[in-house]
Amino acid sequence: MSQARAMPMLKETLDLYDIALLLNHERVASEPRFRGARLVDISRDGQSFVDDRLAPHWDRTAYFKSAGVPIEKDPSVPSFEFVSSSDEPRRGASLIFHNDEATSSTTDSPTNMIATDAQRVAAASLVGPPYQFSKVRLSDKECETLFLQSRSSAASETSVHLLQAFFNLYPADTLLRVRTYDRNDPEYITSISHRLVLAYSLRGLRMHTIVSFLPETTCHSTPGADGRARHTVITFGDASARWDNLRTVLDMSSLQFGDAGRGVKGKGTFVLEPLKAYDARLDHVAEANDLLIEDMVPELPTTENNAEEERFLKEVAAKVKSRWDQRATEPWCGHCGAPAPKVQAKCCSAARYCNRDHQVSAWPYHKMFCGKS
Ligand SMILES: [Zn+2]
Ligand SMILES: [Zn+2]
Repeated sequence: MSQARAMPMLKETLDLYDIALLLNHERVASEPRFRGARLVDISRDGQSFVDDRLAPHWDRTAYFKSAGVPIEKDPSVPSFEFVSSSDEPRRGASLIFHNDEATSSTTDSPTNMIATDAQRVAAASLVGPPYQFSKVRLSDKECETLFLQSRSSAASETSVHLLQAFFNLYPADTLLRVRTYDRNDPEYITSISHRLVLAYSLRGLRMHTIVSFLPETTCHSTPGADGRARHTVITFGDASARWDNLRTVLDMSSLQFGDAGRGVKGKGTFVLEPLKAYDARLDHVAEANDLLIEDMVPELPTTENNAEEERFLKEVAAKVKSRWDQRATEPWCGHCGAPAPKVQAKCCSAARYCNRDHQVSAWPYHKMFCGKS
């Protein structure tokens, strides 16, 4: 007879960091926009494209117009720069993905994001005129950043909806453990209903992300057409959510800002930190940010016409609930949330990682709670 089964059920306490880790991992691994897409080319920080014939695929004209810059395109100069209305070139990344149905059975991850040589050749022959993709060479860390940056572009509301879909699987008074890496902000236990959604309007974004898909040539970019990025996050406090009780910010699509959006001392794959620290972070991310007070709501309403996204998010939420329920036997990587971590750290049994790099990246957070879970 199992003793555990005879014991009374303890009240469920969710851990916000772990839940965010799992939600983010499952979302980016199967996001429909990117499902099976492989990176075939990239241009950054004002680099010229190797082949300017690719430029029309970004609808450069529209992008320049939206940024408020007069179009004086010299067709003999094969270049594409990230420009803004302040005439100052911006940091940015343009990523071209190619949809490859053959790879769609595997989970997407930074390790399989870049197209193989055979996939590049196949992709080049499928788009006319045949393109010369430049060779993509990235370190593991860059790969992780660009993987999350592209998938987080224009996805902050999606992330908020995902967290809501997850919490909807639990009673409203379910306990939530909130812990950040900030030493001055001790952990606390609250309830999942003690949350509030905040929307910011970011102007003068310092990192632009343009993601294009071949062969359809669809494209999405941050900032949007009006040069602003609307950015939505969830906050938590230790009593019912009111303006004066906002304490901790969870931003699961912060990597759309590139490395500036990394949590845990520049190493994490999302942001979970005190509100003050988050405000300071936004100052680095954009020239100006306005908190849209009218959009401070307990729950972000689901928009119409997104039944498919809704279904996807519910699926992800259910998957994460089942992973959470099996946490005692099916651990995950403490840095990226991937299942079946191969590295068991020596410090304590809770510390497991995909590899040594992920162990090092998670250390600033883990050391705060080492041996205490
Ligand atoms: Zn990992
Ligand atoms: Zn440890």
